[in-house]
Amino acid sequence: MAKFDLVVVGGGSGGVRAARMAAARGWNVAIVEDTHWGGTCVNVGCVPKKLMVYASHFSHAFEDAREYGWQVESGEFNWTHFINKKNAEIERLNGIYVRMLENAGVKVFNGRGVVESTGVVRIESDGGDSRLEAERILLAVGGTPFIPDLPGSELAISSDQVFYLPRQPKKVVIVGGGFIALEFACILAGMGSQVTLMYRRDLFLRGFDRDLREKLVPAMQANGVDVRFNTDVQSIEAGQGEARLVHTNQGEQLEVDQVFYATGRVPRTEGLFDPNVSVATSDSGEILVNENFETSQPGMFALGDVVGRMALTPVALAEAMALLDHWFEGKPVDINYELIPTAVFTQPNLSTVGLTEEQAQQRDIPLTVYETDFKHMKYSLTSREERVYLKMLVHAETGRVLGVHAMGPDAGEMIQSVAVAMQASATKAHFDRTVGIHPTMAEELVTLRTPRDDGV
Ligand code: NDP
Repeated sequence: MAKFDLVVVGGGSGGVRAARMAAARGWNVAIVEDTHWGGTCVNVGCVPKKLMVYASHFSHAFEDAREYGWQVESGEFNWTHFINKKNAEIERLNGIYVRMLENAGVKVFNGRGVVESTGVVRIESDGGDSRLEAERILLAVGGTPFIPDLPGSELAISSDQVFYLPRQPKKVVIVGGGFIALEFACILAGMGSQVTLMYRRDLFLRGFDRDLREKLVPAMQANGVDVRFNTDVQSIEAGQGEARLVHTNQGEQLEVDQVFYATGRVPRTEGLFDPNVSVATSDSGEILVNENFETSQPGMFALGDVVGRMALTPVALAEAMALLDHWFEGKPVDINYELIPTAVFTQPNLSTVGLTEEQAQQRDIPLTVYETDFKHMKYSLTSREERVYLKMLVHAETGRVLGVHAMGPDAGEMIQSVAVAMQASATKAHFDRTVGIHPTMAEELVTLRTPRDDGV
């Protein structure tokens, strides 16, 4: 049996990074992947999603261009053309991932990795099974979409399928109120689909700053998304041809050609362990790890979506780098999960870093709140009513900036540098001393002068 210092199960962002870096530092490393190299992000997540975001933006750009004086017709979106080009790009990236691993000296295996015992990984593949002996095992198997069990749920698709649909849905119901549901509602509406978004509670994006969530509702409605709150699907029926009949808890019936569930993701641990291997998991199935990413089995580690601290590619990458520094240099793992910036690539984008106002209130932190709401200069010559909203939460006594929340074009690009400033413990005075770049949306962050009047 071939013996390795490290066997990584899962060729996604976290697993590939850990394997490459460990090999670069001199370990004998193997990696096993059963579906596609690059994992969720490259194949059915961030990368194709962002390409779809770009594709969908053109409809808005054509409308705005006409108001600026361009004689352009928007025309129809060619789904097949786009999907073929997107698939070619993803295949290119798959190849790059494998080459990067091989160039780093990692032994690459295609097949399903199963933990047979604490030091042995079995690779199951069409060509038969093989076994690797491992000094350490790293589980980076990621997650998979979750669709709740309801009558007709087998007729629904998830994000795994939406990237490969042979035809663009003309009418679609999207269920959920998180990142994926909202991003795809905007993507498909931008491409010309008729989109109904159903969310079971009264306001989507639970956990985000409430003002940001509220501001996004009219912006999405203005872009053609039919937003239904307090609405859930009770059952789905097959209609004529490829039609789907969606029955809601509001007593409505909608006929659409796709029902897309974006109701969260679950760890992809099914079949990962032989029955004699027992690894502690949470009630929702995430592998439990200590501060150094070690599972309940010594010598077995896990990171990324399968441990579910934050299901984001850059978080998996940061976890891999921290684990490597811990293994090779003995450094303590030190990742500040509270200062991780995120963006929701809706139209307009949302972006956020640090505490929400609600979190600060729960922690009894005295706050001074700054906010501004305005029409973007780019839209001043157009009839687009879309607003920009920026909110900064400042500790009322220390002046430290605790949270920044933004909605607007390219808000996802802007928040990265704000996060750097916040990592460096920036105060409001640092922002005030910084000279703005005129005219930009981001300059408003350094010209916020008047605190919100909270009537106290
Ligand atoms: P999220 O966890 O963000 O959202 C899930 C949504 O589904 C919530 O609104 C939840 O409602 C709802 N929901 C859950 N269960 C049910 C149910 N049984 N019936 C009806 N609604 C339900 O998951 P996503 O699938 O959107 O995304 C998964 C993860 O992927 C995200 O957490 C994020 O980490 C990552 N991601 C990041 C992106 C980015 O950075 N731009 C883009 C896409 C994904 P409720 O609020 O009531 O619980």
